[in-house]
Amino acid sequence: MEHDRCSVHECDSDVIARGMCWKHYQRHRRHGSAETAHRRFDETHECRYCGTKDPEDFYASYKGICKTCRKVRRIQRLQRVSRKAA
Ligand SMILES: [Zn+2]
Ligand SMILES: [Zn+2]
Repeated sequence: MEHDRCSVHECDSDVIARGMCWKHYQRHRRHGSAETAHRRFDETHECRYCGTKDPEDFYASYKGICKTCRKVRRIQRLQRVSRKAA
């Protein structure tokens, strides 16, 4: 019996769920679309918070946020938490 192929365009990996391969299924769950898997995230190195283009400290794994903004956001979150606790 032949394996089903991933339904995503130009992808011929084996299907694991919902007619998609593992990679595209994960992508689909996270982004609601499997097709974005073919678009490389680092096409635009731009922080979505401060708009800095190609920051040296850009963290691709943190969904388009530069290190500076990440630090600021973490501090803001900590402040919110401590205020709630007080
Ligand atoms: Zn696929
Ligand atoms: Zn930033």
